Amino acid sequence: MRVVVVGAGMAGLRSAEALRRAGFEGEIVVAGGEPHMPYNRPPLSKDAIGAAFDAAQLPFRIAKSAGDVSWQLGQPAVAASLAARTVTLDDGTVLGWDGLMVATGVRSRRLNLPGPAAGVHAVRTLDDLAQLREELGHARHIVVVGGGFIGSEVAAAARTRGLGVTVIEPEPLPMRRPLGDELAAELLRRHEQRGVRFRLGTLPTAFEGDDRVRAVALSDGTTLEADLVVESVGSIPNTEWLDGNGLDLADGVACDGRLRVLAGGDARDDVMAAGDVARYPHPLLFGASRRIEHWTVATDTGKYAAAGLARSLAGDQPDGGVFAAVPTFWSDQYDLRLQSFGVTGLPDVRILEGDLEGEAAVGYHRDGLLAGVVLIGLGGRYVHYRAQIADTIAALTQADSTTL
Ligand SMILES: Cc1cc2nc3c(=O)[nH]c(=O)nc-3n(C[C@H](O)[C@H](O)[C@H](O)COP(=O)(O)OP(=O)(O)OC[C@H]3O[C@@H](n4cnc5c(N)ncnc54)[C@H](O)[C@@H]3O)c2cc1C
Repeated sequence: MRVVVVGAGMAGLRSAEALRRAGFEGEIVVAGGEPHMPYNRPPLSKDAIGAAFDAAQLPFRIAKSAGDVSWQLGQPAVAASLAARTVTLDDGTVLGWDGLMVATGVRSRRLNLPGPAAGVHAVRTLDDLAQLREELGHARHIVVVGGGFIGSEVAAAARTRGLGVTVIEPEPLPMRRPLGDELAAELLRRHEQRGVRFRLGTLPTAFEGDDRVRAVALSDGTTLEADLVVESVGSIPNTEWLDGNGLDLADGVACDGRLRVLAGGDARDDVMAAGDVARYPHPLLFGASRRIEHWTVATDTGKYAAAGLARSLAGDQPDGGVFAAVPTFWSDQYDLRLQSFGVTGLPDVRILEGDLEGEAAVGYHRDGLLAGVVLIGLGGRYVHYRAQIADTIAALTQADSTTL
């Protein structure tokens, strides 16, 4: 019996390890598009921008349980047949499977604006990092396009490295969608206090320069000098290899609450998804389905989906309830750590503790329930607030099973 895990990132690695822990004794093949063994992405927008950084610390340690996994790296899957139970790799290799784990994550959305491409970067992969670091040493002024979490982290890390930094963001505030206006305004204040400049409510329209980028033209008619540009404008799920199988690939791969991939509306017991690419109805989403791009969620979904797949391949019924781990996220900007639990960015925002200019806990509510919390600082309150979100999930899951 063979399980093929497609995607050698964190979700792929954790699912391979968890398959063994769940007692699956067959062959495990992990097919990865990148030529690298699984590595840690969060430092790419943080420490890795700093002058002293050793990329050798990025690869994950492979647990003993995954010691006999066969790694097929540098050959992305280009097609799959769920009917024939095969995956085809770029070099023509066809892998048959009894169970399939979809863990192909997302890639950076790129702007492809008119003008030179040299000097314009993304931060998602080890190869992106190598290219970026080669140029960072010569740069004095960097323009970051996109003021989301990753863009804001890059801005903070580049500023800490001593570079002049300007962030272009179409919204009126950075990180506004996940945080809400008040907290986003406070983070803007902190970035500006450190000397980062913002061009809010504007869009880049072109890159200027002969051989490489020297400036960015904006939608308001102005131009910004730039030795280097980092684009951080969202992500695109890697699902093209699954085309032609009747799956809902509108935004990632649609799954049921047990992370079983839905084919023609029916859940496949032999095809699961995990990590950034999986879209599923978490209890905190009140019936909606969404992808959640958080580091801990890649681990949690990988473990959960692998356990389900191992049970199904053993002919056992699913165990326990739907996937309901607390979505947990962090972001490091300067010496500030933000931590979030649950679903944030809801319109009903209340300060639960502290004050925004210092350390605070901010709550996001829905239907009178605390659905999400963001901590700025207040690291000692991690356990308390995470438990509160776990309670909300338990209440919602309970309500759901009573309704059924
Ligand atoms: C710069 C950066 C900073 C981040 N910082 C934070 C943070 O501070 N906190 C936090 O909670 N989260 C953070 N995240 C998010 C977190 O890293 C992701 O949620 C996590 O890496 C998702 O893991 P994954 O395995 O689903 O996807 P990935 O890690 O993207 O792995 C997917 C793998 O699949 C491969 N692949 C794609 N297509 C194919 C194919 N057709 N065939 C084979 N392989 C394929 C890809 O090349 C990739 O190697 C950050 C992400 C980035 C990029």
